[in-house]
Amino acid sequence: MKEIAHDRVLVTGGAGFLGSHLCDRLIAEGCDVVCVDNYFTGTKRNIEHLFGHPRFELLRHDVTFPLYVEVDQIYNLACPASPVHYQHDPVQTTKTSVHGAINMLGLAKRVKARIFQASTSEVYGDPEVHPQPESYWGRVNPIGVRSCYDEGKRCAETLFFDYHRQHKLRIKVARIFNTYGPRMHPRDGRVVSNFIVQALQNQPITLYGDGLQTRSFCYVDDLIEGIVRLMKTGDAFTGPVNLGNATEFTVAELARLVLELTNSRSKIIHERLPADDPRQRKPDLTLAQSALDWSPKTPLVEGLTRTIAYFESQLSKAVEYRETLLAAAL
Ligand code: NAD
Ligand code: UDP
Ligand code: UDP
Repeated sequence: MKEIAHDRVLVTGGAGFLGSHLCDRLIAEGCDVVCVDNYFTGTKRNIEHLFGHPRFELLRHDVTFPLYVEVDQIYNLACPASPVHYQHDPVQTTKTSVHGAINMLGLAKRVKARIFQASTSEVYGDPEVHPQPESYWGRVNPIGVRSCYDEGKRCAETLFFDYHRQHKLRIKVARIFNTYGPRMHPRDGRVVSNFIVQALQNQPITLYGDGLQTRSFCYVDDLIEGIVRLMKTGDAFTGPVNLGNATEFTVAELARLVLELTNSRSKIIHERLPADDPRQRKPDLTLAQSALDWSPKTPLVEGLTRTIAYFESQLSKAVEYRETLLAAAL
């Protein structure tokens, strides 16, 4: 019997939060998926349910080194995304964005693959234009503690557009705004995971600064739908295109909502605002709506409820594990 040809798709950062959901989606669509990760912030647990699947393959590899595989599409997501993680080894963060982009673009050029880049709202820095349209060039501190990530991602965008102009590569660049959901790392320091984990354990909720800074939170399923739609657009559409949710909340409002949804006894405490923390952030989604016929569907309460259920199950697994270890030691 003749074998059906599936699209071979490389997902870098595939063991991470977003990457693992993307792998699930691509497998469900019938693609052959090669997942590449060095497990810096990702974990095999995020994709273990795919082990043994005939169309799923896992490679431990650091994208700052060359990679030779034969694929039809590349989704480049490899890069730590939370400020705590990307500031842990800032030089490696820039290398991952820049050398990683060069290697993946070189690979795309050799095999003539379509290539997606997970860029970020951080390219807008601490924005003076609100909401942020793609035409806004941003306000980024080039020498601050966030620059390894912001400037790394900006340089990656430059490389994508130069490979497109110079080598006619088919590129797709998305600027992703704060996204949350199951499989976020419980200790990655991002606001949604921090608040939920703190609330579930009745520990203090750490509000940085006055809590009046804003973010707009997108649920992971909505984001993955946007990414996949972008990859399916015609060659003429390159982006950059904003993907996220345009409903803006203050961080203090988020804290109160998490407390309510978890019935937590936690108290809110104030801690120092990190350097260069953007004051406001909200995507202008006009282009995503017209080019991809896409807009996010999941309200924050619904997405948070699902994310809380995930962290609850993770925390109870951790308790069970500790009890087993304790029982074995006695
Ligand atoms: P994540 O930290 O969960 O995932 C990143 C993955 O990349 C991890 O599995 C990590 O181990 C892997 N990785 C890191 N460096 C690597 C390297 N050198 N070689 C191979 N693998 C490496 O973060 P995420 O939230 O899933 O983010 C995925 C991508 O989306 C990142 O590029 C991030 O910048 C971008 N993004 C995410 C958000 C968000 O809100 N989640 C917002 C904007 C942009
Ligand atoms: N590269 C890779 N896999 C490939 C082809 C290229 O990792 O299949 C890397 C290789 O390390 C190279 C980089 O991509 O340095 C950029 O490739 P390109 O062809 O653009 O440039 P050059 O090879 O001329 O440096
Ligand atoms: N934040 C907070 N408490 C926390 C973690 C984050 O108040 O425990 C704030 C942080 O200062 C920022 C916002 O929440 O203003 C979003 O932070 P996150 O690290 O999730 O993402 P980013 O700053 O990259 O948007």
